[in-house]
Amino acid sequence: MSTAQGKVKLPIYLDNSSTTPVDPRVLETMVPYFTNVFGNAASRNHSFGWSAEDAVDTARDQIASLIGSSAKEIIFTSGATESNNLAIKGVFEMYAQNGNHIISVETEHKAVIDTCLHVEKLGAEITFLKVNEKGLINLDELKAAIKPNTILISIMYANNEIGVIQPIREIAEIAKQAGVLFHTDATQAVGKIPVDVIADGIHLMSFTAHKMYGPKGVGALYVRRKNPRVKVTAQIDGGGHERGMRSGTLNVPGIVGFGKAAELCEQDMEKDTARVGALRDRLEAELTTIEESYVNGSIEHRLPHVANISFTYVEGEGLMMGVKDLAVSSGSACTSASLEPSYVLKALGLDDELAHSSLRFGLSRFTTDEEIDFAIECVKTAVYKLRDMSPLWEMFKDGIDLKKIEWQEH
Ligand SMILES: *Cc1c(COP(=O)(O)O)cnc(C)c1O
Repeated sequence: MSTAQGKVKLPIYLDNSSTTPVDPRVLETMVPYFTNVFGNAASRNHSFGWSAEDAVDTARDQIASLIGSSAKEIIFTSGATESNNLAIKGVFEMYAQNGNHIISVETEHKAVIDTCLHVEKLGAEITFLKVNEKGLINLDELKAAIKPNTILISIMYANNEIGVIQPIREIAEIAKQAGVLFHTDATQAVGKIPVDVIADGIHLMSFTAHKMYGPKGVGALYVRRKNPRVKVTAQIDGGGHERGMRSGTLNVPGIVGFGKAAELCEQDMEKDTARVGALRDRLEAELTTIEESYVNGSIEHRLPHVANISFTYVEGEGLMMGVKDLAVSSGSACTSASLEPSYVLKALGLDDELAHSSLRFGLSRFTTDEEIDFAIECVKTAVYKLRDMSPLWEMFKDGIDLKKIEWQEH
């Protein structure tokens, strides 16, 4: 570790799938909108309002350009959680006369799963599709799940824990053939890989600024305006902003930052992907030289900047302690104050132990070579040290099949 230490500032942030820092170029663009240009974008009677509205229009254009939509199809929200709520609850209410069945997937973000469970209590029928060991859905199962009362398919673009990209265009085609709306939570994909709502056949799409170097607290729902024209029932009522689908005074500085972040992502995507993807590949190649380490999720259908790796015979809490110089996520989801293994990893078929001893690395455009050098050394050291102390590892090395041992129950 001596080679890399000194050059890097600890801890190293490798949790960019949770949130990214705001790009300084984004912040710079936002600042005037807190003080000088502070108007309400809905004020029609004076220049303060017009200036704010102009800034929002610019941001709408920047965001629309990134996803290949028209500016009018962007509905600003407080983030992807709200966008998912608006999409699912909004479709459930707006299209109630067409049916009540919604299809989603068991590895979705909680903002989709819990919203589905909420509308289930209100009379919706929900099908959660399973995924295979690579984290991918089966398209035949999707087709088979569609019924005459199906109104919505909600399937994420890319997964937030393992980075796996679902076959979006094929899903969209199936939805189109069946005359069912297709919503995708594209929070992890937008800004990182090319996303085009027309080419991809998406009807509704959630995404958020703070996962793409913009500020927290601002997101968007893309709602298609033609072929077909989609509408959602507002979940927040009031002044009728955002074409009546989401009321509330617009977060002008946040939206300006979101717009700038979108512009930078569009401009730098190829360059960022090439560099960050190479760093991820190097990190993964090095860490998988560790015996009994496994990459979780499809290798081919995956975001370029994410790696999720499990290390057998390593205890989860010990692993997190061992890598405390790295800000990473573990395969344990902190739900209701108890440490539960990640439901996403369990859906891939990992047992509780292996899920706990998994690490998610999310790289960003700010991740450096030196940071990856350090991370590699840090994880290797931690895993080797824990295994040196592990009787299970010793037994494994002695060729004892641990799955066949009958443990004493207490
Ligand atoms: C982060 C995330 C969300 C939540 O976004 P917020 O803007 O924080 O509400 C939803 N879905 C996915 C896939 C995410 O990664």
